[in-house]
Amino acid sequence: MAMRILIAEDEESLTLLLRYNLEAEGYEVDAVARGDEAELRLREQVPDLVLLDWMLPGLSGIELCRRIRLRRETERLPVIMLTARGEEGDRVRGLATGADDYVTKPFSVPELLARVRALLRRAKPGRVANLLAAGDIELDRETHRVRRAGKELHLGPTEFKLLEFLMQSPGRVFSREQLLDGVWGRDVYIDERTVDVHVGRLRKAISRPRSPDPIRTVRGAGYALDETYAPPSPPSPET
Ligand code: CA
Repeated sequence: MAMRILIAEDEESLTLLLRYNLEAEGYEVDAVARGDEAELRLREQVPDLVLLDWMLPGLSGIELCRRIRLRRETERLPVIMLTARGEEGDRVRGLATGADDYVTKPFSVPELLARVRALLRRAKPGRVANLLAAGDIELDRETHRVRRAGKELHLGPTEFKLLEFLMQSPGRVFSREQLLDGVWGRDVYIDERTVDVHVGRLRKAISRPRSPDPIRTVRGAGYALDETYAPPSPPSPET
């Protein structure tokens, strides 16, 4: 069953962008533009996660978050607060809003998706698939194990996160900047060439003789995990 996400946001273009990307990741999305409407919706049905804008007509996000925490049915509901840069940034940090996480607008969509996944994984460990697969590579998020064609590979922590990030969207090309945001986080200032270094290490760690390179370099654009690389493998006996 798909995970349900409620978006409470009065900026229509942002709601559209979020809805599009969340649905592409397999989430079921419901959206409202007012805080009081969001509260009603939460009384009808409790979703798996809420993306809650700080400034909303009807009822502010901060007040709604407080009420969410007071109700027994929603006291543990994962909430990510969306805030505007500047006016609220520092206050959000200082206030005990009860939100599990918050992002500052404008934010990168891949980063927000990563936070949604991380929060759902923390809150609903049983409901999020921990095993990612692409071609002959398998990645287990829970045990942090990676195997290629059944053989265990040893990756450093950054290479693991990089591979996990790429495997979440096979075929999609990510710029160095998007990889930096998604893997290292938006607040970390490192050189984009660092991405190349880690992609190089990842390539080395997952390479196997006579097997194609699953990571594609797209000149001028970035990197992608090539979903078509896997050679048809003969059926192998169960081990
Ligand atoms: Ca707003």
